[in-house]
Amino acid sequence: HEKDHDQTEFLQAVDEFFSSIAPFLAEHSEYQKHNLLQLITLPERVIQFRVPWQDDNGNWQVNRGYRIQFNSALGPYKGGLRFHPSVNLSILKFLAFEQIFKNSLTDLPIGGGKGGADFDPKGKSDNEIMRFCQSFMTELAKHVGPNTDVPAGDIGVGGREIGYLFGQYKRLRQYDAGVLTGKPLEFWGSKVRTEATGYGVVYYVKHLLEDKKDNFKDKTVVISGSGNVAIYAIEKLIELGAKAVTASDSNGYVYDPEGIDLDVLKEVKEVQRERLTAYAKKRPNAQYFDGESVWNSEIQADIALPCATQNEIDIKKAKLMVANGVKVVAEGANMPCTMEAAQYFIEHNIFYCPGKAANAGGVAVSALEMAQNSQRQQWSKDEVDKQLDDIMLNIYHNCRDTAERYGQKDNFMMGANIAGFAKVAKAMLAQGLV
Ligand code: NDP
Repeated sequence: HEKDHDQTEFLQAVDEFFSSIAPFLAEHSEYQKHNLLQLITLPERVIQFRVPWQDDNGNWQVNRGYRIQFNSALGPYKGGLRFHPSVNLSILKFLAFEQIFKNSLTDLPIGGGKGGADFDPKGKSDNEIMRFCQSFMTELAKHVGPNTDVPAGDIGVGGREIGYLFGQYKRLRQYDAGVLTGKPLEFWGSKVRTEATGYGVVYYVKHLLEDKKDNFKDKTVVISGSGNVAIYAIEKLIELGAKAVTASDSNGYVYDPEGIDLDVLKEVKEVQRERLTAYAKKRPNAQYFDGESVWNSEIQADIALPCATQNEIDIKKAKLMVANGVKVVAEGANMPCTMEAAQYFIEHNIFYCPGKAANAGGVAVSALEMAQNSQRQQWSKDEVDKQLDDIMLNIYHNCRDTAERYGQKDNFMMGANIAGFAKVAKAMLAQGLV
């Protein structure tokens, strides 16, 4: 029912979703009768606005800003903001759609949303980033609030951007810590939020491995991305005895056969805000592959964690990964595998852990940040980390048990989609389909 613009990524997410919930729908004719399926694919509200801002030369620039308030059956809209030149309505709708079921899987009271802008933060000065964030929030503030819609970060939006967005919200409204999550610790951010998505993916795989009487010790892991998710996945992998040998950005990837040096990576990415070429220069034994995808490499590995962006792994790359020995694919990024790639993994008995389950740790700790903000308290690192680990264990069990109940052992895609959908659908029906 959406004909007014290109919907490629959104339709891909919807296709993947519907193709796996059929057995559940067969048992629940009430949802078909009430036309719930059509309803659930339409966002409750789409907000689109222009974002004018001034660059350092005094020239006016303009970008497109968005907020998709997709589904509030389970709570206030919750989902990140993405600043990247590729951002468009289709990408944000796919992200917001997936977010509904991911948030449902966390078992926390949050609905699904997503937003962002086609602004490119690369090469921008700190002042330009600040002015852009202030302009973006000047409009967004009309639509968000601690009990209605609570954005967080995503690609191109980290602690610095959340800080500027928060400052502008405060100027326009009032101090309300709960309006954004992923805040720096000084003004009521949650401990472990920065680490949560990366740690969460690794916890999900840890529970899967334990279930299969295995562990991370001496496993070789191939990772894409070198941003928030990738860095903290690598940190946790090292802690659990695995060796992460790659990292990537949109220009290429590094292969460090001795294992990625986390201190060097953090220095390059978080302090210097540099490219991965700078990492390779500091590590003489690391090789940099300019313009190449890490998924086209022939690096032998046990586990793959795609942590960069959507559709980075197609069927050709999926085949190569299986040939390289990969047995587990867990998505730190959202929809990094095309549907054909995901199907290939499942058909070849690779443990495929879809993003809406495996990367739910970020939004889960965001919901814990909301809880702490409501309490006017900050919990300890150990407490938040323990809750994150428990939440990932519950999600793993839920996906595993649901898949098994529908006769598809270890099909975590089916498990995640059905388990996520069941709760949202029930709530929507109980609320009179509003
Ligand atoms: P960051 O901006 O911190 O890092 C993104 C990383 O991915 C960078 O290394 C970036 O390289 C690379 N990347 C982005 N776009 C592309 C592209 N088109 N081609 C190749 N590489 C690309 O973002 P995050 O780490 O926060 O997000 C990564 C993924 O994880 C996204 O899919 C996001 O939706 C997902 N996610 C994030 C959560 C979070 O809490 N942050 C929660 C759940 C999911 P470059 O610097 O060259 O752009």
